[in-house]
Amino acid sequence: IHCQILGYNRSKINDKTLGHCQSVQVKAGAKTDLLEGLYEHEISMESEPETEWLSPKSPPKAQNNHWSQGLYNSMQDPGLVVFKDDQICIVKDRYPKAKKHFLVLPIERITTLYDLGADHLPLVNLMVKAAREKIVLNHPEFTFKMGFHAIPSMAQVHMHVISQDFDSDCLKNKKHWNSFNTDYFIPCEKVLDLLKTCGNVQNCQNGDKKDLLGKDLVCNQCSFKPKNMPDLKKHLKTHLKG
Ligand code: AMP
Ligand code: ZN
Repeated sequence: IHCQILGYNRSKINDKTLGHCQSVQVKAGAKTDLLEGLYEHEISMESEPETEWLSPKSPPKAQNNHWSQGLYNSMQDPGLVVFKDDQICIVKDRYPKAKKHFLVLPIERITTLYDLGADHLPLVNLMVKAAREKIVLNHPEFTFKMGFHAIPSMAQVHMHVISQDFDSDCLKNKKHWNSFNTDYFIPCEKVLDLLKTCGNVQNCQNGDKKDLLGKDLVCNQCSFKPKNMPDLKKHLKTHLKG
């Protein structure tokens, strides 16, 4: 069972204290304090999991029903996969927030950005190289940004490759916008740099990233400050070429 702390309170699992975004693999029978020192629970399973699923190195399998595991299914979906080799998979984002929006994922099972270490530098470099070769070069008419959300909602670490028009019906609210247009979006260069200098991404991050989602809207292509999302979406159309 993969347990990840989504909130900001510390929890305890099998005597290990975990903070925000940290994760751990445990088996049925594990003891957890939902809040450190409080609300003790034991994790039990109704049926035996498939054994290979317990191996952190095993490729993701199309067996994940919770919405947060949906990317594992999408990595097996020929309708969404645009490139795959033995190390990397590129899928179309199912709810694209721009005309072109892809996710680059490793085949090796790595839950989030915060599970990456210095050992993963070659892998992240490969993800960036694949994104350039398979996406950016194939769409020369678009400008792309590549990076990771500071607080991801979906499991399996994924790098967004997104065109900067943000012209999409799926871009609906301020959170969507700010997740790509504030420091909540961590550019791939910064992730590579943190892995090189700190050995991880977690300990070098500062400030409350969640607050960034509530920031006032600003256009990504000029200094215009829209009043609300409809205003921003109308304005973004004025930047479209042709
Ligand atoms: P985040 O975890 O915040 O980096 O964002 C997850 C991204 O995955 C969002 O851009 C979603 O639109 C996208 N998404 C959600 N479910 C799926 C899915 N089943 N297949 C592909 N993309 C998805
Ligand atoms: Zn503008």
